[in-house]
Amino acid sequence: MYDMSMKERKLAYGLRELSDQSGSHSPSIHTIAEKLPELEIKIDACFLSNPYATDLFTQEMKNDLIKTGDLRKVLEFYPSQNQVIGELLSGCLNVPTEKIFVGNGATEIIQAVIHNFTYRKIIINIPTFSPYYEFVSDDVQVVYNQLTRDNDFHFDLEEYIRLVEKERPDTIILINPNNPTGGYIDQEDIEYLVDRLSFVDTIVLDESFIHFAFEDDSMELKTAIPLTQKYKNLIIMKSMSKDFGIAGIRAGYAVMDEEKVADLLENGYLWNLSGLAEYFFRLYADEDFLERYEKVRIRYLMDTQAFFAQLSEVPGLKVYPSKANFVLAEITNGMSAFEFMSRMLIKHGVYVRDCNDKVGLDGEFVRIASRTKDENAAILQAAQEVLQGQEETV
Ligand SMILES: *Cc1c(COP(=O)(O)O)cnc(C)c1O
Repeated sequence: MYDMSMKERKLAYGLRELSDQSGSHSPSIHTIAEKLPELEIKIDACFLSNPYATDLFTQEMKNDLIKTGDLRKVLEFYPSQNQVIGELLSGCLNVPTEKIFVGNGATEIIQAVIHNFTYRKIIINIPTFSPYYEFVSDDVQVVYNQLTRDNDFHFDLEEYIRLVEKERPDTIILINPNNPTGGYIDQEDIEYLVDRLSFVDTIVLDESFIHFAFEDDSMELKTAIPLTQKYKNLIIMKSMSKDFGIAGIRAGYAVMDEEKVADLLENGYLWNLSGLAEYFFRLYADEDFLERYEKVRIRYLMDTQAFFAQLSEVPGLKVYPSKANFVLAEITNGMSAFEFMSRMLIKHGVYVRDCNDKVGLDGEFVRIASRTKDENAAILQAAQEVLQGQEETV
């Protein structure tokens, strides 16, 4: 690593070790703070959440739980059971309670679905969110559909349908918008796809980033949830961690055929949500809260799109089109992704995701999340300086 001081080099080695130990997820800022205390992380652009939504939720919680003293009740008593929270969501999602399954984060539901409804063969687009293939048991065949960089990681509808027709899997996974590419499939295409693939037993459509997507200037929220009424094989998966900025309370849900929900509930998951997650879902079902949320969603979308436009102007960085709250970016000036990540962190306190460990992503890729407007400006400045190699050693 050129122009790095001894101290900086040491930190870079420390980071390398931490990355090697953390498998398919990057080390969390807590781990880094604990293991490399000399490193000051100012901005976490690795984690994919809307910070304005976190502010909103924290404020609501202060008013509803802390000022009133109701927090004690949330902590002291058992939360509601799975189906009771499902009933709460039924109204705002406009689907019958029997079709709703809530989870301790979407990861729990992904695990439950893959373990219970995937028997033979699964098709997964790569690069992807790793639990989808990590949870597959050994006797299930995994077929990867490689999204290619030459095509901007674009998802080719007809090509995909041909693959599914040829492979005849029992499960397919689609993430819309996709993590880590940010690629988005229009709702019209989703419906066409689901209609053509009615022979597949289980179609998982993960909409964890859907609140960041839009199809026109109105920036109206899209979802394929209504399709679950017609297509019994469709499962909509939803994490609340990213768009509501609340990964710590672990809240997610899925909409799926009532028989599948009944199947899962027979196997457990009775009190799998915490009191705080239940509190969140009560807010989520409240129209007044959703109006306040809509304001921070739109504000964040505007900031995010402006940030992406600026990032794509940075020399040495190729930014792929994204309808999520992060971009996949390729470093094109010869620097490695690890070096870019280390320099961003060590010299500027900005933590971005080195995508080296992502299956199906060969090359020097990083994923950069959008944060607040001010933080985005700092991320942009840091990226420019790192790629121009103009920094001073500390
Ligand atoms: C983060 C993520 C999830 C899981 O989120 P939870 O925190 O477990 O709710 C699911 N799907 C995708 C695509 C994700 O990026």
